[in-house]
Amino acid sequence: MVYWYDRVSPEISVGLHNPPHTYIPLRLSKSLGGFFIAPFFNGAFMTSLAEYLYLGNGNKKLNRNLHAKTFTFSLPAGFSCPGANLCLAKADPITGKITKGDQCLFTCFAARDECIYPSVRKSRWRNYELCKSLDHKSLVSLIHRSIDHYVSRDATHIRWHVSGDFFSAQYLKAVLEAAKHYDNDLIFYAYSKALHFFNDQHTGVPLIERPPNFRLTASWGGIYDFMIDKFPDQFSRSARVVNSRREAEIFDLPIDEDDSLASGPIDQHFALFESIAKRKETAALRKSMLTPV
Ligand code: SF4
Repeated sequence: MVYWYDRVSPEISVGLHNPPHTYIPLRLSKSLGGFFIAPFFNGAFMTSLAEYLYLGNGNKKLNRNLHAKTFTFSLPAGFSCPGANLCLAKADPITGKITKGDQCLFTCFAARDECIYPSVRKSRWRNYELCKSLDHKSLVSLIHRSIDHYVSRDATHIRWHVSGDFFSAQYLKAVLEAAKHYDNDLIFYAYSKALHFFNDQHTGVPLIERPPNFRLTASWGGIYDFMIDKFPDQFSRSARVVNSRREAEIFDLPIDEDDSLASGPIDQHFALFESIAKRKETAALRKSMLTPV
């Protein structure tokens, strides 16, 4: 029996209306039995069927947003973050041991997760290696097939990078190209410190078109922070980590507790609150595992 499901390329669903962002199994002729043909129709000869990028199903924080059903995609923290500065930390891919950057003020939580959970580390590195190994067309195709594989039909959002960042201009281009296919049916949103891939760092001129269903939050604490100040029209949504609610008040920023401001339709600046409990946990980890770079 052959099942063909594809919500990206409706035109190849012979005789059936297959709108984007739906998941339609189609039984084909028994004479083709035993073969799964979708990867070939999608033009992805370079990766085998088993090779999907891994996308996860929300997390505790994102699931608090009752107006969204969010999936996530991640890469290894630090290693894939060319704009990271005050947050920069990396978990060794083999041992999980964390090293921090020279300017590190608050250790990246995503690196902490990789330190604690080997399976998280493994899946992020697998995603990273796959993304780096493919050309543009193959990567776009793989993103589509991976979304088909992991993301449920009722999903409304994908947070691109709970961990990691846009590590190259080519990779950013592939993600935005992939996002385009879903229109407003599926919102992609991302925090990024790699602002230099989006706009020229000297003139602010856009280097790439952001599709309407892609929402970018410029994340403070990176090498390219100056671009947020210098080009406010280009980076009209930003996030700043604060240590207390009082600090958010001083900056006159609302706190985003559930990613609703990062993923929502309105461009605005907001704060992310690093709780005391989280800070204590990080401090304990720091003490036990950190090795200065
Ligand atoms: S940019 Fe994000 S994922 Fe990368 S090191 Fe900083 S906080 Fe971690």
